[in-house]
Amino acid sequence: MSSRSKAQVRSLQASVGHPILPFMSEISASSPMMKQYLRFKAEHPDAILFFHLGDFYEVFFEDAATVAKELDVVLTSRNGHPMAGVPVRRGEVYVAQLLRRGYKVAVCQQVEDPKKATGLVRREIVRVLTPGTAIDDAVLDAGSNHYLAAVLESRSAREIGLAYLDLSTGEFVAASMGSLEALRGELERLGPAEVLLPVSGSEALVRAAGDRLVTRRADAEWTAEGAECRDPTAGEAALQAAAAILAYVRETQGQSPGHLRPLRVLGIAQCVDLDAFTVSSLELVRPLRDGKASGTLLHVLDRTMTPLGRRLLRRRLLAPLTDRSSIERRLDAIGTLVRDVRSREALRAALSDVHDAERLVGKLGAGRLRPLDLVLLTRSLAAIDVVAQALTGVASAPEPAQPTLESPSPPPAADDLLASLRNALGQPVLAAQARRFASLLVDQPPAEIRDGGAIRDGWSQDLDAMRLELAALRDRLTRLESEERTRTGIASLKVGYNRVFGYYLEVTRPHLSKVPPDYVRRQTLANAERFVTEELKTFEGRIAAMEEKILALEADLFDAAVLELRASIPEFQAATDVLAELDVLQSLADVAHRQRYVRPTFTTEPALDVRGGRHPVVERREEFVPNDLVLPEGKDLVVLTGPNMAGKSVFLRQTALHCIMAQLGSFVPADRAVLPLVDRVFARVGASDMLAAGVSTFMMEMLETASILDHATSRSLILFDEMGRGTSTFDGVSIAWAVAEHLARHVRAKTLFATHYQELTRLADELPNVVNLHVAVRELGKDVVFLHRVEPGTAAGSYGVHVARLAGLPDAVTQAADRVLDGLLAEGRLSQIGASAPPVAIPPLFGTDEHPVLKALRKIDVERLTPIEALQKLDQLRRQLDA
Ligand code: ADP
Repeated sequence: MSSRSKAQVRSLQASVGHPILPFMSEISASSPMMKQYLRFKAEHPDAILFFHLGDFYEVFFEDAATVAKELDVVLTSRNGHPMAGVPVRRGEVYVAQLLRRGYKVAVCQQVEDPKKATGLVRREIVRVLTPGTAIDDAVLDAGSNHYLAAVLESRSAREIGLAYLDLSTGEFVAASMGSLEALRGELERLGPAEVLLPVSGSEALVRAAGDRLVTRRADAEWTAEGAECRDPTAGEAALQAAAAILAYVRETQGQSPGHLRPLRVLGIAQCVDLDAFTVSSLELVRPLRDGKASGTLLHVLDRTMTPLGRRLLRRRLLAPLTDRSSIERRLDAIGTLVRDVRSREALRAALSDVHDAERLVGKLGAGRLRPLDLVLLTRSLAAIDVVAQALTGVASAPEPAQPTLESPSPPPAADDLLASLRNALGQPVLAAQARRFASLLVDQPPAEIRDGGAIRDGWSQDLDAMRLELAALRDRLTRLESEERTRTGIASLKVGYNRVFGYYLEVTRPHLSKVPPDYVRRQTLANAERFVTEELKTFEGRIAAMEEKILALEADLFDAAVLELRASIPEFQAATDVLAELDVLQSLADVAHRQRYVRPTFTTEPALDVRGGRHPVVERREEFVPNDLVLPEGKDLVVLTGPNMAGKSVFLRQTALHCIMAQLGSFVPADRAVLPLVDRVFARVGASDMLAAGVSTFMMEMLETASILDHATSRSLILFDEMGRGTSTFDGVSIAWAVAEHLARHVRAKTLFATHYQELTRLADELPNVVNLHVAVRELGKDVVFLHRVEPGTAAGSYGVHVARLAGLPDAVTQAADRVLDGLLAEGRLSQIGASAPPVAIPPLFGTDEHPVLKALRKIDVERLTPIEALQKLDQLRRQLDA
């Protein structure tokens, strides 16, 4: 069907709100076209099939219902078949929306001119678009990576292979995961848009993928040889996963992209382990439910100038380093940029001319570079020189001596990161390419090269000559107009053009009698007629041919440039890596300077000494009271007490953030900071998004706790906030006590234990490595003033009732609460707990000795119980009680 009549049908539909489909007879399951459709659909059952029909992509059956719902287009129906359509020229916009919502789209294109086709138009699936392989700007988020992941369990199920690819940038990574839990954490960090699993993949893997889009791939595609990787440290399963990714990308893209990086194999322990709970509750990159984006650490640290820098900063925040010399190298560079304000400003200005070069190179490699992309790419390449120049003046003066404590060893001498980055930018090929292609395209080229006019005059002599010729032909047409006016005596005669009829001579109705016999009528309008002549047709043919030749040459020139640029992809990628790194360094330096952060010092002793520490996010929001945290060697666990709202969890969080910031290579918000190098951070602070519906808070907390006790080492940092709040006081205190004691005795990780259970402070009497701190408040009569000051020792009393009063609970209620509290204190019931450890001498729990829970309790051999078993047992008993 011609595009015009189809468009008319559409406009009719719009006006009468009822579809009139001239090809309705074709839309029955038995028509040849529908058979063709169904054949393609059968090949891609899990994708929405966009079926090219004239100027529209049509979708049928269930796809139509989906598209109508998601894209807000009209759902029509013929012969009982639902259908919907979107205009081809807006196809990409619609596809992008579907991808963002997690759908796949297969594009079935007409591959021959319908006018020339005999019978059914030939069609082919030209591309399969999937959320994980999308590289369109409309689908991607500039500030974060867009990953496709693949996961598989090794046959022994002892190793889990993970590979992930950001097709938009070419980043390609493989890693071996030790457990499903580790996998889940990693997926949470990466946030892939799509996860590939082998057809035989277990249910456990599906669960680990969470609610992400899962695509099953044939087992045969998971072959380690397919990964083309020679890294001997790579696990077999990880390589298999990488191979599956490559096969999927080849299939969906219809070609092998030219910009995939060599597979990088992640070693274990290169990065600080941050589990999903820690990442979310510390609000590193995403605010907790209902929180503002400005509440994240990423937001505070982000002074980047480019999307590539922003993405790298985000990746670094989620993967702080454990290797000291790499960290010091970054800190050296930041130190330099903090002191040298002028170079930093120059660097920032130069970086502002760098567009998203990483993704532009991705489009180049994927064969999807458009004219405007090429302009932005060459401009970004040109900016590289300016960036390098901004660095030439950098004053690498030695850093002033640091006030250090506890004699931490001085930072190891590192080679100069900034100098090596600057050198890496000096690739002559980049400047050459930038110069070479700067004059290829006009400043504001059309969207597509086939729209014409993208190539700048002067680039090609042939093109210039053709353009001159075309101009001459058009000129000739203008002359023809005046010649015909003279010949016919019709002063208002006009030469015009439209897409359907081509060139014509228009004569208004009053002058029709003067039309000469060689005019052939083409079209009748309300008050004019349009004609053609032999001469005009000849011109039309010559003009069309010339335009065609010009478009073809423009496309050739563009393709040639793209081909030439593709040869330099590895150099471009090396450069974008450097630009991203420089952007992150200047960003961190800029924040450090503005917020008066200090360079952290690392100690190999298990010690921590932060003076005047602040919370990087809270200090931006309100007046902040800095606090010290000093844990010399031999002191591992802090029991932090204080009333609600005193500032306990802020203090915990800031400590975790200091460690994470320091190890990603940032200065920290403190007057000075000596920190241990940690291998893991566990933060169980505040409400978390992980407290999903269905799992009781208490059970969740116990599971979390068990996992921490399992994985923590003496080099970990552990933060517990109000452990045991999900259960009764006695249970809560008992468990908190047992966990704290186990951590202090056996794990010896640096641990902060915030609690409103006063009883826990007695642990310090029993264990030499436990310290009591409290957040000070001042009482004024019945009111409390929060000082937010952390001080040694124990807080007096619990202030929950005061907080209730502050929150506006009626006086009668808070007074009653005061009386109950006084009564309990007088009976000594609250303070009995913790008198011996673990606290079992608590008032009778049950009326009868024969209670099954009591019996079960008696049977427990406490000496032989591991802490985790104890917790499990406790949970089981607790359930028994509730039953
Ligand atoms: P807690 O955990 O003891 O219940 P939070 O740590 O949540 O209390 O702190 C409550 C509020 O007190 C915070 O939201 C913040 O506004 C304020 N606050 C906490 N610590 C400080 C501090 N060091 N300086 C200033 N304000 C603080």
